[in-house]
Amino acid sequence: MLPVIEKLLVLQDRDRRIAQLKAERTRIPEQTAATEQSLKAGSARLDSLRDQAKHIEADRKKLEIDVEAKRAQIAKYRTQLSLIKSNTEYQALLKEIAKAEQEIDVIETHELEVMEKSDQLQPAVKQEQAALKEITVKAEAERAELQKRSAMIEQELVKLQTERGTLVQDADPDALYRYERLMHSKSDFAIVPIRNGNCGGCHLNIPPQLVHNAKNGTTLTSCDYCGRILYWQPE
Ligand SMILES: [Zn+2]
Repeated sequence: MLPVIEKLLVLQDRDRRIAQLKAERTRIPEQTAATEQSLKAGSARLDSLRDQAKHIEADRKKLEIDVEAKRAQIAKYRTQLSLIKSNTEYQALLKEIAKAEQEIDVIETHELEVMEKSDQLQPAVKQEQAALKEITVKAEAERAELQKRSAMIEQELVKLQTERGTLVQDADPDALYRYERLMHSKSDFAIVPIRNGNCGGCHLNIPPQLVHNAKNGTTLTSCDYCGRILYWQPE
């Protein structure tokens, strides 16, 4: 293999690793956002359930106060009852008492319904609390993992860029120029092996003369179709 090819292959390997790491780096903010989003959603679900529970409790308290007020009213009526002389007034007051007692019945039935709702809500709150705890633990681990990965990527990129600098300095300027242009336009490989007589880049068949050049020539051979630099790889 031509030394110039060997050097370009090393450079291409570093460039591909650099590109992969950069692509991974751009995905990190998305991953971080997804983690934060699931945490926020879990927290919102719990808040909503707690809010419902608070409203139910407030409803229940209000009903309790209503019952107490009615009971106080009944007690007051009963005191008045002993002081009344007229039978008509006495009967009217008894009617009022009966009405208040009936109202208490209605309110207490409603209160039972509200308490039942509250009982149903409690397991859901507990479940959501447990789920949120789990999400939080997972999110913390993910955050730490992404931070660690991010730092590793930066470190690796610095290392690879340094290596790249040395390789570029050491490369043949004309070959480097061709390589850089190809890498820019193809964005995957600039230099590819001939496999089963085909170009390793565009997979089209390479004429025997070009295969011969790539195998034995002293200058760089390019694929006629895609322009990538070819090298011979024994099969
Ligand atoms: Zn090709």
